[in-house]
Amino acid sequence: MKADMRVTYAVTRGCTKCGWCVQECNFDAITFDRDGAHINQEKCTGCGRCYDNCPSEAIERIEHSEA
Ligand code: SF4
Ligand code: SF4
Repeated sequence: MKADMRVTYAVTRGCTKCGWCVQECNFDAITFDRDGAHINQEKCTGCGRCYDNCPSEAIERIEHSEA
């Protein structure tokens, strides 16, 4: 990974609204509404915990190249 690459995660599709990630994110980056989970791109540190543990594989890794 390049040094200027920032990684975050986002809920894309297939969220079953289990609520697991909201409880387990250590950075308060995930909120929950009737559509499911949403990851705050400003707060997400890219730790990958939600991605690794989402039972529905609803979370996607995003690489942001910073100019
Ligand atoms: S862990 Fe996955 S399925 Fe569960 S609420 Fe989070 S994104 Fe949705
Ligand atoms: S990658 Fe880490 S910081 Fe970002 S939303 Fe998932 S658990 Fe929270």
